[in-house]
Amino acid sequence: AARKAGGDSLVTYGPELTAQTGERLDMEALLRHAIERDELELHYQPQQGLRDGRLMGFEALLRWRRMGQLISPADFIPMAEESGLIVPIGKWVIEEACRQGAEWHRETGAAVQVAINISPRQFAAPGFLAHLEGVLAATGVEPSSIELEITESVMVENAEMAIALLHRLRGLGLKLAIDDFGTGYSSLAYLSRFPIHKLKIDQSFVRNMHTVSEQSTIVQATISLGHSLGLTVIAEGVETEQQRTMLAAWRCDEIQGYCYARPLPAAMARRFIENGLHLQAA
Ligand code: C2E
Ligand code: MG
Ligand code: MG
Ligand code: MG
Repeated sequence: AARKAGGDSLVTYGPELTAQTGERLDMEALLRHAIERDELELHYQPQQGLRDGRLMGFEALLRWRRMGQLISPADFIPMAEESGLIVPIGKWVIEEACRQGAEWHRETGAAVQVAINISPRQFAAPGFLAHLEGVLAATGVEPSSIELEITESVMVENAEMAIALLHRLRGLGLKLAIDDFGTGYSSLAYLSRFPIHKLKIDQSFVRNMHTVSEQSTIVQATISLGHSLGLTVIAEGVETEQQRTMLAAWRCDEIQGYCYARPLPAAMARRFIENGLHLQAA
């Protein structure tokens, strides 16, 4: 029924279990209380610069700790998105990630970059911008150390409104990234109008690029596209040394994936930062 995935012992439930117990509604009710019961946590996956191998920052990834198990976001984010629960959950994620970023900055002296996933519904919700401004002020986190990851789908529905909002977010000093790039439907004309900083190449292209020449063509073309638009390019789901070497040869800026590090609980991420600082100082 449940299978383990990832270094942080994520549990993924197959569709059979979810269907069999008809537990969708139960799950929704439980998730509704997850915040007040303090069952949500963020893990942090390190991102590595390919130029010098340095730690560039982390992506905050949500986990739900229920009865001793960590549940994968793939198992509850879609339901949260449909039910609207993603709005309060997303607020919690923003608050926790900014709080953590500010704490690491205070304690280590480094303005550690933290990337936060923003779902389309959350992005479109009234009050999104105001909440974010409030959290930046309350936590005192350096806005330029916070990156928001949005997907192309955000652009498809109401591009003009999305572009206007992105400009305002950028105006706050935040960094902006397009997540899972290449899997959505955004046109290249729109892409050039998005005031973003970074493209994240989806892991589906990275996975087979060493064996499938079309995939390698797509990855290389995306790197050049990003660079000609003045963007930083990061590849997701990099699992092997071979993939990292290929990406470095193609001048990809950064990688994220198991070959560098898995998503880590906050305390382990903190040690990762300290080791990085130590290595730089040495
Ligand atoms: P994503 O934003 O594209 O995040 C990358 C996913 O790839 C993460 O899965 C990460 O653990 C996984 N990953 C990283 N390196 C590797 C690798 O080398 N190989 C493989 N096979 N996978 C790798 P995770 O943590 O299960 O999250 C899945 C998705 O859930 C995320 O995809 C994101 O779309 C969503 N998500 C996670 N946290 C949040 C959140 O706080 N808010 C929202 N709205 N969505 C979230
Ligand atoms: Mg992401
Ligand atoms: Mg992604
Ligand atoms: Mg994804």
